[in-house]
Amino acid sequence: MEQNILLKGIGASPGIAIGKALLVDHGRPDFSHYRLSDPQEIQQEIDYLHRAIEESIQQLMRAKKEVSKRKIKEAQYIIDTHILMLQDKVLIANAVKKIKNEKVDAAWALKATMQELKKNISSIDDEYMKERSSDLDYIEKRILRNLAGKKTDILSKPGEKIIIIAYDLSPADTANLNVEEVLGFVTECGGKTSHTAIMARALKLPSVVGLKDVSKQVKNGDMVIIDGIHGVIIVNPDPEMLLKYRQKKIHYEEFERKLLHYKDLTSETYDGFNIGLFANIEIVEEVSSVLDYGADGIGLFRTEFLYINKRELPTEEELYSIFKTVAQTIAPRPVTIRTLDIGGDKFMSHVDVAEEMNPVMGLRAIRFCLKELTIFKTQLRAILRAGAHGNIKILFPMISCVDEVVQIKKIIHEAKRELKREKKTFTPEMEIGIMIEVPSAATIADILAREVNFFSIGTNDLIQYLLAIDRVNEQVAYLYEPLHPAVLRLLKNIIDAAHDNGIRVAMCGEMAGDPTYIPILVGLGIDELSMNPIALLETKQVIRSLYYTKCKEMVEKLLSLPTAQAVRSSLKKHANSVSSKIYLDN
Ligand code: PEP
Ligand code: MG
Repeated sequence: MEQNILLKGIGASPGIAIGKALLVDHGRPDFSHYRLSDPQEIQQEIDYLHRAIEESIQQLMRAKKEVSKRKIKEAQYIIDTHILMLQDKVLIANAVKKIKNEKVDAAWALKATMQELKKNISSIDDEYMKERSSDLDYIEKRILRNLAGKKTDILSKPGEKIIIIAYDLSPADTANLNVEEVLGFVTECGGKTSHTAIMARALKLPSVVGLKDVSKQVKNGDMVIIDGIHGVIIVNPDPEMLLKYRQKKIHYEEFERKLLHYKDLTSETYDGFNIGLFANIEIVEEVSSVLDYGADGIGLFRTEFLYINKRELPTEEELYSIFKTVAQTIAPRPVTIRTLDIGGDKFMSHVDVAEEMNPVMGLRAIRFCLKELTIFKTQLRAILRAGAHGNIKILFPMISCVDEVVQIKKIIHEAKRELKREKKTFTPEMEIGIMIEVPSAATIADILAREVNFFSIGTNDLIQYLLAIDRVNEQVAYLYEPLHPAVLRLLKNIIDAAHDNGIRVAMCGEMAGDPTYIPILVGLGIDELSMNPIALLETKQVIRSLYYTKCKEMVEKLLSLPTAQAVRSSLKKHANSVSSKIYLDN
């Protein structure tokens, strides 16, 4: 037997689990399709379809009851979405039409209908969108299994502690897992934002997703280690490897326990300099983890995902209801809603955008919104109305000049006038902020600071544009360097300009959630950091160990260094002197 087989996927939920593999086959049942000959058969197939859909709804209702008992909000939202999809009249009508017109059996008609829907979705080159098409897969499989009369709910009581290996797990499958017996799970499908990943984090089960062909490489009963932190699994570890991971597991759990202690502590440095810690979210289901990790609020709500996973543009009412829910759930903490950042690497299916040679430098984000005014205004109106139910701030992406801010303000003013005329409740005063993620905006930060209430630095794009490195091109990834002296100098310019003009400055790019850079950001005087909720507690731990005054002195020195390498090694050298404890282990 081959030992220590290392397989790499995507870490969906951190932690380490060690146990025996249980393979779950949850694929589509096979059907032999047939043509129908008489009206009686046609009616019978239509009845089968209705019955299978009804059964599927009942099963999901039961799964929902189960998760609400366990208070897993994320799963409730997702299962609700699946129930709504099952109740979709158009979907059912289309399948019924196929049975009648094409005289095919219910399973065939359902598959063909789903195929058309999925084809529409998959023609969009967007990772998130592809993951959302897994929702269609889940419900299709469920209906098909009910049509075939197969058992749909997995894993009654496996008896021993196990690691689930599956092609994919629907939220309802995941909700039915017996957390006492399941140590973690590994799936072939999914990415970091897939429902499986969200559920794994909610259940706090270590998991790795997107591990292609895993079901072919692992056998039932194989010993498996899941390392959800690094996104790897090890199949059939030898005793040495097993021991190493048992120790890692103990250390990680100890680390986690200690971190929880930080949840309700303030995020201030050892010498009393306070830094607000906020969460980045992309979908509503993530809101509860924002609270679980003790964030001061939501620093970045990326709204593009409300558009790109839909067949239709969201209406003002839909957006309003989502923003209102988030604002109410998080109140009195603030939520910063970023307006649509479409284009670049995120596209919508229903808006015709001409293909561009350089999409990241093209009609993206605010440029798109200032052209598509109806879409923009619909979103602004929804945000202004939701503002009456909590503490909402509004953030505009990819600003590159003052004119854009002037135009935005004019449109906000118009939107408010319209709402007033229509006697709709809205908040008349809402803080306006801009993303500083284009080098031109960073350079004229002093001028822009007079126009807005706050800045939020988007380092993902700022570094991309400043260093001329495509952030999704692996070939130049080695040049993507937050410690490049140009980046540090520009950050200083932005933060100083904001403070000289009396406004706060946040950072919401990936750089904000990486412990390595925190001493520099503290030394530069950043006011707020916004990141993936999972990174919040460790960041707070680091902040509480730092001396602000010493970080400030260190940054003065770092700013004069010629290369990123020099900055990195100087940063390491200073690690002990800026901190009350040793925290950098690399
Ligand atoms: C950024 O550019 O740093 C940012 C936070 O925005 P996004 O990653 O959504 O482009
Ligand atoms: Mg950006």
